[in-house]
Amino acid sequence: MSKRKRFMLPETEIPTQWYNITAEMKNKPLPMINPQTKEELKAEDLFPLFAEELSRQEVNQTDTWIDIPDEVRDKYKIYRPTPLVRATELEKALDTPAHIYFKNESVSPVGSHKLNSALPQAYYNKVDGTTNITTETGAGQWGTALAFAAKAFGLELAVYMVKISYEQKPYRRSLMQTWGAQVIASPSMSTKAGRKIITDHPNYQGSLGTAISEAIELAMQTENCKYALGSVLNHVSLHQTIIGLEAEKQMEMADEYPDIVIGCFGGGSNFSGISFPFMRHNFTGEKKTRFVAAEPASCPKLTKGEFKYDFGDETGYTPLIPMFTLGHKFTPANIHAGGLRYHGAGSIVSQLLKDGYIEAVDIKQLDSFNAGVLFARTEGIVPAPESNHAIAAAINEALKAKEEGKKKVILFNLSGHGFVDMSAYDQFLAGDLTNHVVSDEDISKFLTEV
Ligand SMILES: *Cc1c(COP(=O)(O)O)cnc(C)c1O
Repeated sequence: MSKRKRFMLPETEIPTQWYNITAEMKNKPLPMINPQTKEELKAEDLFPLFAEELSRQEVNQTDTWIDIPDEVRDKYKIYRPTPLVRATELEKALDTPAHIYFKNESVSPVGSHKLNSALPQAYYNKVDGTTNITTETGAGQWGTALAFAAKAFGLELAVYMVKISYEQKPYRRSLMQTWGAQVIASPSMSTKAGRKIITDHPNYQGSLGTAISEAIELAMQTENCKYALGSVLNHVSLHQTIIGLEAEKQMEMADEYPDIVIGCFGGGSNFSGISFPFMRHNFTGEKKTRFVAAEPASCPKLTKGEFKYDFGDETGYTPLIPMFTLGHKFTPANIHAGGLRYHGAGSIVSQLLKDGYIEAVDIKQLDSFNAGVLFARTEGIVPAPESNHAIAAAINEALKAKEEGKKKVILFNLSGHGFVDMSAYDQFLAGDLTNHVVSDEDISKFLTEV
């Protein structure tokens, strides 16, 4: 019998609520701490920076379900529900008894899952009367998502883009500009933080930490201007649960339930999104699904980091976040999965890892590209270098299933496509890429500074 390949939901099945996992966690994530007062952070403390509803969502540990505004659902219709696909061709190539499914978030107009949070963030800002928003972007995926979302809700957006990416990834910059955002190479002369760095180090190529500092400074000094962040924070993970909620219905259509759920891991948003809705059935004891976060070996905060209170940025502007971290001064090697080069993990995921609900694996750069190329040659989609980590982890599990002769059901999230990352594939195909693995000495050096 031929296997069914694609599982599509109609537009009417776009979820009406996001799933707030913290309401159902036995051990709640520890609170964020205000570094000045050393006190637990309250929603009001975040109002100067974020839209009020987003600030409330950030600290909400009581409501299990949070309504998705109709205005946001209307924009979700542009690309949601996204397909759930059975990777039948990949299964054949691996000759595995495992059934491999992937949720295809690459079909969003910006090419990744990041739009799932950019849209509600822009919407809640609009509701507050915000006219301008700022953000930072490294490789450019978050900036492109927010550029479209800002336009969709009539906001002006300024994006501080790390200078080296601004020069090396001109097409992400063009995408942001096409959607109407203003893109500024960071460090820039437009902020005090930027001017100081340029004066001290004229050739500085920029970092996410500096770009965050500039974006926050502009937001704090401009009337009706707020700041937005694309990962790590609780409200971002909340919005991303739309991925897993749809996938749950689609797995039902396939008459299967995943034994293993996999996502690549940068700050944790797409992994949370695919995992949390399934994890709630583990909480009740009804299911025993394994949840596997796939991180790069060059930035192994989950497999080699420590659970500590640390800053979310390099400068120390953010609240102290309870997280698995490599230290906020940690600078990962310049690997191509730019979206995974973050030093820490969000506080919810960190608590779940501590409590044993999540496993983590580290993937080397060459293994990730080998997996991505095999996926492209079988399923046809060229994945984002970040997503390649999830694919590599899924392939490892499928091969293990083959060895053990077991039929496992594997679900992974395809967080994005790689069309704007082809220079990375060029280098891989030319044999110019290498593996970067961090030494234990390096890790303990940065961690002692926390
Ligand atoms: C940003 C990004 C990631 C990593 O971020 P998370 O918050 O961990 O999901 C992964 N994949 C793609 C395609 C991205 O753009």
